[in-house]
Amino acid sequence: MPPLVDIQNLSKTYDIKGRAIPVLNGINLKVDPGDFISIMGPSGSGKSTLLHLIGMLDRPDSGRYWFKGQSVLDMSDQQLSHYRSKAIGFVFQTFNLIPGLSVLENVKLPFLYAPGNTGHALERSVQAIEQVGLGNRMDHKPSELSGGEMQRAAIARAIAMEPEIILADEPTGNLDSGTGKGILTLLSRLNDKKVAIVMITHDAHVASHARSHITIKDGEII
Ligand code: ADP
Ligand code: MG
Repeated sequence: MPPLVDIQNLSKTYDIKGRAIPVLNGINLKVDPGDFISIMGPSGSGKSTLLHLIGMLDRPDSGRYWFKGQSVLDMSDQQLSHYRSKAIGFVFQTFNLIPGLSVLENVKLPFLYAPGNTGHALERSVQAIEQVGLGNRMDHKPSELSGGEMQRAAIARAIAMEPEIILADEPTGNLDSGTGKGILTLLSRLNDKKVAIVMITHDAHVASHARSHITIKDGEII
């Protein structure tokens, strides 16, 4: 079986006011099913940029990227959106829930954008919400939740589609350490079920929950 993610010599440069600013420089990274990888590194080192590239939200300037053996850089928009919605779950530091929608509506939302069969949207959303322990908060709006509950709702949204990989950008960054521990336990439990996890953190203790660790500095893995 090919790796889930196979990135070779990936580079990304941002153009800021006509000046080319290199952000990632020759990144190599493999992620297999069941991996739990932490990414650490100073602010501005390119961690979020790398996570966006892995998540197919952005394109590199050069290099190769295969997802389950398929060349991502050769995928059509339709294929990209298929993988983004079905195979990849995103969790952000700021939760990114829609304020006007209930927990259930937030978790169901990605199904609206998923191409193809979304017949089990309600059932799978309810299941995901129960899995993160928010069964009694289904109809609450984000403003009626604690920080930890908001992040659990965001994780429910990421797992409802049963992705093969979860990309988490400082998922505990806005939480106190006790609440953050609950989120890490949740991620570890998903990982036990073979969901691959790539998690950015600046906290060595948070990173210690991962099975392998990479550090990125000035756009390179060191
Ligand atoms: P990290 O997550 O490690 O803090 P980022 O990947 O967010 O770092 O950013 C790396 C560098 O790229 C920073 O210098 C940032 O200012 C720059 N950058 C990030 N996104 C953009 C963008 N969309 N346009 C221009 N520059 C960007
Ligand atoms: Mg970042």
